[in-house]
Amino acid sequence: MSVEAATTSAPALEVRDVHVRLGGAEILHGANLRVERGELVALVGPNGAGKSTLARTAAGIVRPWRGDVRCMGQDVRRLRGRRLARLRAFVPQRPAVPDGMTVLEAVRIGRSSHLMPLGRFTRSDREAIAAAMERAGVTQFAQRQLNTLSGGELQRVQIAIALAQAAPLLLADEPTSALDLGATVDVARLLRGLANDGLAVLLVAHDLALAAAIADRVVVMSDGR
Ligand code: ADP
Ligand code: MG
Repeated sequence: MSVEAATTSAPALEVRDVHVRLGGAEILHGANLRVERGELVALVGPNGAGKSTLARTAAGIVRPWRGDVRCMGQDVRRLRGRRLARLRAFVPQRPAVPDGMTVLEAVRIGRSSHLMPLGRFTRSDREAIAAAMERAGVTQFAQRQLNTLSGGELQRVQIAIALAQAAPLLLADEPTSALDLGATVDVARLLRGLANDGLAVLLVAHDLALAAAIADRVVVMSDGR
């Protein structure tokens, strides 16, 4: 199947019978997961169930020793770097906050997966960066340093970085776990709106009530399955 055919018909994310070993132990014992475009799927389960490992495997960060992971029909094990970044964006639980970096600089880095090596930002890149910041509601923070933002603002910047990547699949690992209720609701609404816009969203959540409130489907994980 050509890449074009794969990207038009396949689910945004398909994880099949994935087994993962970390530090000598098997952590995932045959996990399955599917997210379609326009769908928000919540992944819930107790601490240590393997949610983060599954999200990282889906993102191509962790390699399964058995099973299959496809983003838009493409085998993520064969992809790295910019080609992977154009398929999926990953919002981590605890974002890195480099000293002295502004919001705009961080979102520009998100866009860099669209540049050729040593390439320059074109007008369309600048427009994509501005649109991503606007969609995530962080335009007013463009010149602020990341370490001056509140937790909720910082997570919305992470989502702006992900949107600048313009990947069809967004994976977010407990993006609201450190946020207060108001900021949690803002981020949850934003993710729901992005799925309504056609993105495939996987939200790892520890809060079942939140998951049930915003997700199209809730997938429960237990003991690596
Ligand atoms: P969750 O996100 O559901 O809390 P994780 O995927 O973080 O679960 O972890 C699942 C299990 O895998 C836990 O028992 C954890 O200690 C273990 N684990 C995670 N990362 C590693 C690693 N790098 N090396 C060894 N064990 C790990
Ligand atoms: Mg986790």
